[in-house]
Amino acid sequence: MLMMQKFKSLCLSPIIVGFFLSCAAHYATQDEDERFHNVIVLVPDGCGVAHMTIARWCKGAPLTQDSMDVSLVRTHCANSMITGSAAAATAFATGFKSWEDSEKAKLLSMRPDSLLIPEPRALPGLEQWRPSATVLEGARLAGKAVGLVATCRISHATPAAYASHWHSRDDNNIIMEQMVYQGIDVVFGGGFRYLISRDSDVPGSASRGLRRDGEDLHEVLLARGNEFITTKDELLGLDEETRRVWGMFAPNHMAHDIDRHYLAPHEPSLAEMTQKAIEVLSRDPDGFFLLVEGSQVDWSAHDNDPVGVVTDYLAFDRAVKVALDFARSPSGQRTLVVVLPDHGTGGMSLGREGVNSYTFTPDKMAGWIKRPLLTAAGVGALITEDAGDTDPSVIRQIVSEYYGIDELTAGEMEMILTELADTPYVHLDAVLGPMLSRRAGIGWTTFDHTGTDVPMFSFGFDRAPQTVDNTEIANLCAQAMGFDLRDLTERLFTDAGVLFDNCTITIDTAGVEDSMGQLVVERDGKKAQFPLFKNIMVVQDDTVSLEGLTIYSLKAHKVFLPRQAEMLFNAY
Ligand SMILES: [Zn+2]
Repeated sequence: MLMMQKFKSLCLSPIIVGFFLSCAAHYATQDEDERFHNVIVLVPDGCGVAHMTIARWCKGAPLTQDSMDVSLVRTHCANSMITGSAAAATAFATGFKSWEDSEKAKLLSMRPDSLLIPEPRALPGLEQWRPSATVLEGARLAGKAVGLVATCRISHATPAAYASHWHSRDDNNIIMEQMVYQGIDVVFGGGFRYLISRDSDVPGSASRGLRRDGEDLHEVLLARGNEFITTKDELLGLDEETRRVWGMFAPNHMAHDIDRHYLAPHEPSLAEMTQKAIEVLSRDPDGFFLLVEGSQVDWSAHDNDPVGVVTDYLAFDRAVKVALDFARSPSGQRTLVVVLPDHGTGGMSLGREGVNSYTFTPDKMAGWIKRPLLTAAGVGALITEDAGDTDPSVIRQIVSEYYGIDELTAGEMEMILTELADTPYVHLDAVLGPMLSRRAGIGWTTFDHTGTDVPMFSFGFDRAPQTVDNTEIANLCAQAMGFDLRDLTERLFTDAGVLFDNCTITIDTAGVEDSMGQLVVERDGKKAQFPLFKNIMVVQDDTVSLEGLTIYSLKAHKVFLPRQAEMLFNAY
């Protein structure tokens, strides 16, 4: 029934609905008893065990994850021992290692042409630069509701890897278009700018849109039957009928958890978004898949700012509690909950050179971390806003009131003034964070990512995995919902040149960098257009929905699309 309702809302013809239903039946192959009804993956971006231990000391009570099973996850990507977020999320969304390197590619759920690690080897030609199906796409085709929740812009690496396919994580307009046409039931996060034209303002803000393709994706979402909200009040006020909703709570990223009260009071918390997402998604009788990202733990770790790390981790901890409470409730039966960071960041440590190990009590550390009213990033924003003339007395007052450091040394003031002079690249957060860290006895080894294993916490497995590769997480999630990701990739991403080998095909890439372009298929006077990054076929004035996206692989100069497209083309 649910499949019918969903696809009706996309205005499909009966013939196509029939096809979807037969596909759903094909997926019901695994023993129902062994499958999970719901799967929730929660990712605190960019942290390791130290971040969690320090957060626990500051909380003064166990973390939610402390009651879950624990495993270890290996995180390396295709080209480095140290991964980036796009490659990491690609691994646990698709089951394949990918490449993250600014010179070559920063892939989102696409295969590279080769691997460097553990040893150099080229991939088979047909696999190179090919999209890989994701756990979210599989859940959707299995009839489940699907959702994404994050505190960054929703087109950022982790959520993007679940819902889009492209060789560069930085092309937000292309990613956002795919997310809109992916048919996701619940999307909560930031990023309104990437939905609307550069000629439009984001309502209620000073920001402008960023799209250059003439499309208004906000209107597309409404036309496709989604509710659209922008505030915490609207989120909390969603009624019991809501089944499909986008919440864009910020033009770009949302605020850090502790900064929200001062900088963006209309935004909801991660726990509030998670709670509402589960409420809406669990109305689907076929179950759901949900990804939740605590996106900004990573950014504070890049700043070496323990205040942002701890407060955003504890905000994430509250979201984990929402998920776990649901999984343990009668309505959440057969729910798998998986919690894992994508990689470490900062090389954070509890203790540092100069700290006397045996007299280091919690108050000496937590006292410093709990005093500030804002993250280092929030304080940095206040200083650049208010101390335009770099008045040291204004800086002293702001750092004291909002960051809890009353006595900046002359050397520290010098560092702040030097950074302020470094226009236009002022990055005060990474100057302030280390100052508080020194006082709190917190050590750091880098402003970048680290390559050590990360812990994974789970609830629902009969036996939790021990040490696993991050690619195995994708397969565990797929198995939990009863599908196979390799089969799914064959079904969703076939090379158009192979699929339509008896037709003339043209790949029109004009404007592709702005998410335009199309595949044109012609045979015996019949012509169909498949706009890139969308799930539609336009033929003889009809617009027909596909069960997946049409993806252009720029590196291979090929188009990949659902195998179903050939049947639909022939039917006309
Ligand atoms: Zn990350």
